[in-house]
Amino acid sequence: MPAHQIDLILFNGRVHTMDAALPFATAVAVSGERIAAVGTDKEIQTLGHPGTLIIDLRGRTLVPGFIDAHIHFATWALHRQHLDLSDAPALEEILARVAARAKETPPGTWILGDGFDPNAWSDASWPTRQMLDAVAPKHPVLLHSKDHHSIWVNSLALQLAGVTRETPDPPGGRILRDPATGEPTGFLSEAATGLVKRVVPRPTVEQLVAALREAQPFAWQAGLTGIHEAGDHKEMSALRAFQILRHSGELGLRVVQYIPAAQLDTFVQAGVQSGFGDEWLRIGGVKFFMDGALGSRTALMLQPYEDEPDNHGVAVIEKEEMWERALQASRAGLALCVHAIGDRANRDILDVLEAVREEERAEGRPVLRHRIEHVQVLHPDDLPRLARLDVIASMQPIHATSDMVMAERHWGRERCRLAYAWRSLLNVGTHLAFGSDAPVEPFDVMAGIYAAVTRRRPDGAPGPSGWQPQERITREEALRAYTLGPAYAAGEEGIKGSITPGKLADMVVLSQDILTCPAEEILSTRIEATIVGGRIVYRDPEAAIG
Ligand SMILES: [Zn+2]
Repeated sequence: MPAHQIDLILFNGRVHTMDAALPFATAVAVSGERIAAVGTDKEIQTLGHPGTLIIDLRGRTLVPGFIDAHIHFATWALHRQHLDLSDAPALEEILARVAARAKETPPGTWILGDGFDPNAWSDASWPTRQMLDAVAPKHPVLLHSKDHHSIWVNSLALQLAGVTRETPDPPGGRILRDPATGEPTGFLSEAATGLVKRVVPRPTVEQLVAALREAQPFAWQAGLTGIHEAGDHKEMSALRAFQILRHSGELGLRVVQYIPAAQLDTFVQAGVQSGFGDEWLRIGGVKFFMDGALGSRTALMLQPYEDEPDNHGVAVIEKEEMWERALQASRAGLALCVHAIGDRANRDILDVLEAVREEERAEGRPVLRHRIEHVQVLHPDDLPRLARLDVIASMQPIHATSDMVMAERHWGRERCRLAYAWRSLLNVGTHLAFGSDAPVEPFDVMAGIYAAVTRRRPDGAPGPSGWQPQERITREEALRAYTLGPAYAAGEEGIKGSITPGKLADMVVLSQDILTCPAEEILSTRIEATIVGGRIVYRDPEAAIG
């Protein structure tokens, strides 16, 4: 038994440790930032002394703190200030909201919004700049699509950005144009979005710090104790802001930061490798994009889209260039974190990673934790390759149920057999790490676990057995993918991801046992308390724990 000071004891709980050595316990002792002991109430209670904070869990469930393995938390924090269009069911509603915001905003100031989804609108119309001009002629307007791969802007925004009929499509991007006049329609996707985004004033690092400070409690409330920040602006504003919070002692979420591909050379020159940092803030690797996204029909596919025989999607980076950059990163000790949605994008990055692994092996270099982000659809031939190459599948369960209708429409039922294929990936031994991709989807872990085990939407669609039900996984597997999975993906499985003596005391108290309750009730499970480094950072005011 530990000789050191015990600061916190939690007892009378149902503790799912995610540690194979002792999967279930009822009590945990914490010393400082770390877990000191795990066991029965009797074993643990004897460790207390005057001054130990003792919490009776009253039968509640304790699990390792959730780690969101793919989130854009800095963006989420900033976007809280934008117009939220994610729940607007129709075009008219979006235009009404833009009109209302224009009324209260001084002319000339940008109106920014997020989350519009033409695929979900009741009518089939595609967004145009004229629609926005009609409701906000004096404000530049820029709205991000739900999948964040396209933007919808008005004429003033195009004018400020200097985008005209003469502007060519940038490599890896598309400016939609009126077929009759050749004029931009106001809808731009992938690399073309940068043409307009670059003229929007960027928030300062101080503004981002303030936004993150306000956003952090929402993460705790969701049971998150750690995040993998899946990218950054090329100015590295997220990393700068997280460092400021770390130095002022305010960082209460453990952050693994993935750096943008645009900064690879800088990091290589500086000799900064994956793992650099500490338990609070660490460099994970380099983020690349192979392709676009499903909603914008820019995910790169082996065969064309169902309804568009000429559309195979968009290659954001050429395979040859990716190959060179991947070897450069690996040689410098930086892990790859590569966005790939379509089956062609996944095949291409697997080919690249195969070459990287070969070189790593041949030269006896460390095996880096390379990962593919999203892995939304795979060709059957490629399914076993992630496990074989020890490449992590970083996936987002809510994408599956949000996207199911759209996925079948654009990719067809047959290809969707290996869409969001968690079961098949686990069966062949793949490491799975789950996340939300917030702000694309909310960072609601219970909703993620529910989607992973049922493949149904909260309203029950598409029926009792769920969508492509052969890909459902167990609750324990889903919970693992939100805890140990992300810890492994960042090479941190020795200090995070399970309730194990010696690891960081990052834990979450749940109102009920999500491993045994009826599946529908997973959704209504409340986060009653969140503990980060032994400190209770969130407590549900109505929680019954004492
Ligand atoms: Zn993302």
